[in-house]
Amino acid sequence: MWKLYVLCLTKKYHILNKPYEKEEYFKLKEEITSKLIKSWEWWEYLWFEISQFPYNDTMTYDFFWVNKIINPDWTEEIINKNAKWTVILKTNDFITDAILDLWWKEKINIKWRTRDKEINIPDLMETIKAGDLPSIDEVDESILDKAVICEKTERPFRIIKQELEYLKEKWFPLPTQHHEFQIDELLSRKPWGQLFLETCDKCWWEILSWVICKDGVKVYCGECYREFMFGEGIKILLTFLPYQRLLEIMILLLFLLNQW
Ligand SMILES: [Zn+2]
Repeated sequence: MWKLYVLCLTKKYHILNKPYEKEEYFKLKEEITSKLIKSWEWWEYLWFEISQFPYNDTMTYDFFWVNKIINPDWTEEIINKNAKWTVILKTNDFITDAILDLWWKEKINIKWRTRDKEINIPDLMETIKAGDLPSIDEVDESILDKAVICEKTERPFRIIKQELEYLKEKWFPLPTQHHEFQIDELLSRKPWGQLFLETCDKCWWEILSWVICKDGVKVYCGECYREFMFGEGIKILLTFLPYQRLLEIMILLLFLLNQW
């Protein structure tokens, strides 16, 4: 309970919603802080259990995958074959208490959103399929009141005014996929902090790379990459870069000599 701090904007000299005299408050505050520092809790995060957000709605879920879910009736659902952890649901509610089982290491109480793709579109709202979206120069503001149905997940999403303005300005097409699907797609291509020993596809120099060279994926070493991206010119520029300072000093010296 020592960990619970609440920021009070309207009250003064309160600890855990209890008012104190000014002197007493500072005395108690000192006591609490020194106790927390002694037990190293001062630098700790708030513990997992008090989070009100379902685990699968947070970014943690994008990085720490879950292998399977065990429903309250003990049926199992595999979500990700590459992961190890298990989630045990307590009820079938939309947001339910659950246990995150980290394979003998720890069991953590979490919250879980059960219905993965629940679709709720208000009755009066007009829907439009992503495939039927008009092109960017034909679209008008009426699109802002419609629910667009994602071409991949069938989940509805809306386009906001600022987004439409930006897309029109940049001449970009309207999005056809739900933003959560787009994030998942992006993350599925993200390297996971591991380095592999690979050879540069151009000069065959050995390098450490984020990506594994397979399925036609090529990796280049830094130098070959720069050459590939910016052409031969960059090589000449990079060769002269270290001498630039020296040239500047020489020009300055010549200038000073001239002054004499
Ligand atoms: Zn190379």
